[in-house]
Amino acid sequence: QKKTVLLDEPAMGRALTRIAHEIVEKNKGGANLVLIGIQTRGVPLTRRLQEKIRQIEGITVPMGELDITLYRDDLEKISSNEDPELKASKIEVELRNKKVILIDDVLYTGRTVRAAMDAVMDIERPSQVQLGVLVDRGHRELPIRADYVGKNIPTSEDEIIVVHLNEIDQQEEVSIYEK
Ligand code: 5GP
Ligand code: MG
Repeated sequence: QKKTVLLDEPAMGRALTRIAHEIVEKNKGGANLVLIGIQTRGVPLTRRLQEKIRQIEGITVPMGELDITLYRDDLEKISSNEDPELKASKIEVELRNKKVILIDDVLYTGRTVRAAMDAVMDIERPSQVQLGVLVDRGHRELPIRADYVGKNIPTSEDEIIVVHLNEIDQQEEVSIYEK
């Protein structure tokens, strides 16, 4: 059941505006950047950041999409570590010598980001890969950290973060639930 609202619509807007500013500050503008949204909710977040960067810098940073889902195969041992795998990608822009910024809604173990980095490297070699997330909920299992974080939310293993975005959920809210 629902516990607390962590970000409401204005707070989410402010967090994304800040991240857009951080991206152009860290990268000295928007040139040579490519934004890549990870599956469902990373994609509308990426579109919003693209629009905010356009408002700040006057340029449209190219974007792409990766669909990475948990690998589940009944033929595999159920007890084995199930790593997420690439399901589809829509990246029609050059990545070579670009700074790729991966965008996702929630960062947890880091395994999805690892799979995203593998997918990007398989396409073409960028000069750098950075990571932005709306929520970092902790519990990393890999040495991965985000360069841009909307909100750090320390969670327990039996809590989940629910992210609702207008584009997908017709409402805008980040909240924490007990499983
Ligand atoms: P990781 O691969 O880092 O363990 O998990 C990150 C991926 O799983 C992200 O794509 C994210 O959408 C999803 N995810 C993991 N934990 C949560 C959570 O608590 N809430 C939501 N909404 N997504 C999560
Ligand atoms: Mg996801």
